[in-house]
Amino acid sequence: MEQFSEAEIAEIKDESARAYDLDRAHVFHSWSAQRTLNPMTVSRAAGSYIFDGEGRPLLDFSSQLVNTNIGHQHPKVVAAIKEQADLLCTISPAHVNAARSEAARLITERTPSGLDHVFFTNGGADANEHAIRMARLTTGKHKVLSRYRSYHGGTQTAINVTGDPRRWRNDLGDSGVVHFFGPFLYRSEFAATTEAEETERALRHLERTIELEGPSTIAAIVLESIPGTAGIMIPSSEYMQGVRTLADEHGIVLIADEVMAGFGRTGKWFAFEHFDIVPDIITFAKGVNSGYVPLGGVIMNDDIYDAFAEVAYPGGLTYSGHPLACAAAVATIDAMENEGMVDHAARIGEEIIGPRLRQIAEASKHVGEVRGTGAFWAIELVWDKETKEPLATYGGGSPEVASVLAALKERGLVIFNNYHRIHVVPPINISEDDLEAGLGILEEVLTGLDFDR
Ligand code: PLP
Repeated sequence: MEQFSEAEIAEIKDESARAYDLDRAHVFHSWSAQRTLNPMTVSRAAGSYIFDGEGRPLLDFSSQLVNTNIGHQHPKVVAAIKEQADLLCTISPAHVNAARSEAARLITERTPSGLDHVFFTNGGADANEHAIRMARLTTGKHKVLSRYRSYHGGTQTAINVTGDPRRWRNDLGDSGVVHFFGPFLYRSEFAATTEAEETERALRHLERTIELEGPSTIAAIVLESIPGTAGIMIPSSEYMQGVRTLADEHGIVLIADEVMAGFGRTGKWFAFEHFDIVPDIITFAKGVNSGYVPLGGVIMNDDIYDAFAEVAYPGGLTYSGHPLACAAAVATIDAMENEGMVDHAARIGEEIIGPRLRQIAEASKHVGEVRGTGAFWAIELVWDKETKEPLATYGGGSPEVASVLAALKERGLVIFNNYHRIHVVPPINISEDDLEAGLGILEEVLTGLDFDR
């Protein structure tokens, strides 16, 4: 890990103090009540570490917003961005550009055959906006089905498809989105006691939802292949195959949102590969270039592509296929391939993270369940293992969860948090030493918890 000299630390402190004041004076932050914020300053980052405003290292088990899959400042990706900047910083999406073409080739090389075309966007939300627009235009239908307990982005359609309290104030009741429950045995909505029951009942519920909403009105089902922010609930293959069958039976476009779960996070290039299904549309962002430069996209099957072969697609973006972002994607995918990162993610999930988190759950009074795959794990913090009552309310926080986060940070670990859950989502290429160090901190803090009402 990088060590700073005294002079560098002094410089970092100066620069960070000024940045903090300017931020509080002028920067408007996402999803936040602006005056109640006290954001952490991050001055530098390298590999699996970020450095705060004092130059203090913190192990990044969040990968920020689960996007820095290859860690921070990967030298090959940084070099590729610099090289592209020297060549050509930006060019209209109407032109051909080598970085864009190569990124599209590398991405579609990793998708099932028949999904060979990419529409590039600036991030995940607009990828979902366009995927839904394509589904509506090609089917001539309007409604969209999506899960409660999901996140699909912050723009108008994407936030309405989202099944999380952040939708509520954006939902005018006119979006044409209908939500349904997906399988989630730990908190079953179907009174199921086994995975098989949960799968069967969740599929029946979706089937009935389609029948009663009217198949002739439904353009698309949008699903995170493995829901991320909402809790990393891994569906069974039978469930995902059942959804695929229902979509086929009713002429509904199946959109797999791979924005968080894609690009190696789950130990495969795309999470839907775990279930032996092929979606009609895949949306991606984050891991495609680890967010070094904003990039997302829609990968569509031939039917969708053909619908716009002779008729213009009514949509576009000034920065679609931005050369800097695409050069970063090319270098990222190459680095992931050459350094075996996807296999590494699968292995650390199976051999290290999973077994260790299960031990922690066993020993901790307040860990109700751990679940995940690859470098994608959720920990349910509960008041009581029997009642499973969450340690923070849905859509909110609690002093208890805040104290867990503070204790982890105090020991040098930053982690992803959503309501009562914390997620272990480190860079997928994290070294075993760094992983052990972070899991050790988690173990110490989580096994020591003893909250009383
Ligand atoms: N879809 C999923 C599954 C996500 O996790 C996210 C972001 O967290 C998005 C879409 C939105 O992506 P963006 O923030 O790049 O718009």
